[in-house]
Amino acid sequence: MFTILDLVQPDNLAEAYQILSDKQNNTILGGCAFLKMGKKRINKGIDLTNLNLSYIQEKDGFIEIGAMTSLRELETHPLVKEYYNGVLPKSVRDIIGVQFRNGVTVGASVYSKYGFSDLITALLSLDTEVELFKAGRMPLVDFLARPKEKDLLVRLWIKKTMRQATYLSFRNSASDYSVLNVAVSTLDNRWTIAVGARPSRAAIAVSASAMLSQDVLTSEKIEKVAQRASEEISFGTNTRGTATYRKALCKALVKRGIMEVLA
Ligand SMILES: Cc1cc2nc3c(=O)[nH]c(=O)nc-3n(C[C@H](O)[C@H](O)[C@H](O)COP(=O)(O)OP(=O)(O)OC[C@H]3O[C@@H](n4cnc5c(N)ncnc54)[C@H](O)[C@@H]3O)c2cc1C
Repeated sequence: MFTILDLVQPDNLAEAYQILSDKQNNTILGGCAFLKMGKKRINKGIDLTNLNLSYIQEKDGFIEIGAMTSLRELETHPLVKEYYNGVLPKSVRDIIGVQFRNGVTVGASVYSKYGFSDLITALLSLDTEVELFKAGRMPLVDFLARPKEKDLLVRLWIKKTMRQATYLSFRNSASDYSVLNVAVSTLDNRWTIAVGARPSRAAIAVSASAMLSQDVLTSEKIEKVAQRASEEISFGTNTRGTATYRKALCKALVKRGIMEVLA
């Protein structure tokens, strides 16, 4: 269990960031589910409750999601359910249970760049940007590639389009981490295939996505694209599955994902 020596509730983002920067072990608190699993000794726990960051709204052609929004809110919000075939609710609905998802936050889930993340894979298949207090706004794919820096994730911006998408994951048992997860989306015949829980951080299968965007899709072509995705993405082994198993799963899930989006 972690220890918090002092709890602070800043009234604005600048103050929160200042406290975060003041000392190495000053730490932002999301829902604390992940922090609780560790033994970190936190000097100042920074609670963002007063910053009104728990919301989902439309703004300037984007869906804006505040960092303190819970995964359950993401799962049930009408706007998020309506867009992208509900790919975001789909991606989080198998994470533990409703009570758990009521507590854990979108900001922590994305900021932490967990390899096993279901949400990051789904977000990666959409036109998602991350807004950090210090580093500013950038595409999610760039954020994931950056070395980890102390910052405060403020909100996500997802371009509001008619993108069609789906999300699939394979778990050894209900509520366990995914052995592998895949999100597939298309907009104006430009496809994106994202693969996560490899078990490392989610990545886009760039070559397979481009191949899919090229010409008419036949079942033979889809088979080839799925094969390409499984070859270009690297996989590792952990207690949940071997690299070879994940590679085979990738091919099956990508193929199923494309068929689902086409349907
Ligand atoms: C037992 C268990 C099982 C899980 N299973 C899954 C699963 O199957 N699939 C899945 O996708 N996820 C899973 N998760 C992860 C979960 O969905 C959350 O992503 C995770 O708990 C972090 O959310 P939190 O709000 O609890 O963060 P916290 O525990 O509060 O924080 C986690 C980290 O994020 C930092 N942080 C929090 N908010 C911000 C912010 N706004 N800006 C910058 N840094 C911030 C904190 O300082 C801390 O370092 C699991 C977690 C647990 C504990």
